[in-house]
Amino acid sequence: MKRPNIVILGAGFGGLITAVNLQKTLSAGDANITLINKHDYHYQTTWLHEPAAGTMKPEQARIYINDVVNPSRVKFVKGIVDRVDTTTKQVLLTDGSTVEFDYVVFALGGVPETFGIPGLKENAMTISSLNSVRKIKNHIEYSFSEYKSNNSADRSYVTIVVGGAGFTGIEFLGELVNRIPELCKQYDVPREAVRIVNIEAAPTVLPGFDPDLTTYAQKWLERNGVEMKLGNGIKGVEPGVVTFGPLQGDTTETIHANTIIWTGGVSGSPIIEKSGFEAVRNRVMVEADNRAPGHDNVFIIGDCSAVMDPVSNRPYPPTAQIATQQAHNVAKNIAALINGKSTSKFTYESKGTVASLGHNDGIGIVMGKKIFGRNASFMKKVIDNKHFLELKKYGLVLKKGKF
Ligand code: FAD
Ligand code: NAD
Repeated sequence: MKRPNIVILGAGFGGLITAVNLQKTLSAGDANITLINKHDYHYQTTWLHEPAAGTMKPEQARIYINDVVNPSRVKFVKGIVDRVDTTTKQVLLTDGSTVEFDYVVFALGGVPETFGIPGLKENAMTISSLNSVRKIKNHIEYSFSEYKSNNSADRSYVTIVVGGAGFTGIEFLGELVNRIPELCKQYDVPREAVRIVNIEAAPTVLPGFDPDLTTYAQKWLERNGVEMKLGNGIKGVEPGVVTFGPLQGDTTETIHANTIIWTGGVSGSPIIEKSGFEAVRNRVMVEADNRAPGHDNVFIIGDCSAVMDPVSNRPYPPTAQIATQQAHNVAKNIAALINGKSTSKFTYESKGTVASLGHNDGIGIVMGKKIFGRNASFMKKVIDNKHFLELKKYGLVLKKGKF
């Protein structure tokens, strides 16, 4: 009998853990496993705010795929997925090649959502890949050097605007707070000249999160010199200029800033829509076993998927935590189907939420308990290191882990 082809799209949190679990669960004769990814490495999306601010070397957040998967069990294809044809059961790559599948796992992650705000896509940078964060770090350093080259006359060179105070925005601001003193020293810039401005549409940071924790985060940022413009949405961006104001109403202000970072939200990969799936912001509401509605052989996980939270009656937020748990379920379900068994239902179990505020501080809820300060910071590092255990690469904790 022909061995079924399992094709996994994306080697992020969802895709890589699916591959690692399948190579462990299935024996060589059971199926051919192919993993397709844009790069020959996986990056820790959850760490990207650190290399973006320059508080971590990008190399630390990068893991080469062939160091994690067994090349004799998982065929790695470096390529960019253009779309998936579910009728002919083919993945089409941008170089014109195709890969046939019997089962396909969509794990292509998300892209920044710009909500059609004029000029945002063209004039703001985003924390979304290793390439994008290397650009942010270099841009900030270049801007500091330009400030000095221009006789310290134009403060916009050392003005950084961060749009959005969700978890990505808050964690990035925390890293910036840690990095700025070093940059000031390196480029001979007085700290008073530097402006870090956060613009958040909601009346609080981390809208919807526990009020004690959001207050703690907001005060920490203010204490560390971040100007908070809460209740103000970004309405437009031109090169070096941000226009913002309350989202209801016409009042606007502007800030001149050479560095503009957008962290206002994510949507799923555009490949979802290109492949003909029904979705909201490219997130497909998946069936109980993570399959796409109407498709027996298509699984969708991570930021491309939506799983309903029965308590809030809204989809769970897209996180690495849910992508990882879906990956375990999907690997188990594909193995079950290949062995003629039925799939099992996915149930998300939240282990809590922890966010860093720079290197030594943070906030979080773990097992229903609120944590702040150094305890939260320690817990965040434990969670970050746990990913290496998920990949079954214990040595990476010592090589790339956070301590
Ligand atoms: P990803 O992990 O983003 O992986 C997608 C992969 O697909 C990438 O390797 C990408 O290169 C590849 N790819 C994309 N398009 C193509 C294409 N067309 N062809 C080929 N390959 C392609 N969540 C948490 O739970 N905890 C956290 O602490 C946390 N911190 C975060 C911090 C930051 C700064 C950010 C930005 C996000 C954070 N998140 C966190 C959210 C979390 O990172 C995502 O929800 C998670 O990475 C989604 O996993 P995924 O597998 O869907 O996509
Ligand atoms: P998000 O959608 O969670 O937050 C975006 C923020 O931008 C919101 O606060 C929103 O009000 C604000 N915003 C939207 N439009 C705006 C506008 N025009 N002007 C100003 N502000 C605007 O997005 P995110 O922070 O990138 O997070 C993406 C996902 O990743 C979430 O599910 C999040 O939980 C997860 N994440 C988790 C962690 C963690 O657990 N430590 C860290 C980072 C990200």
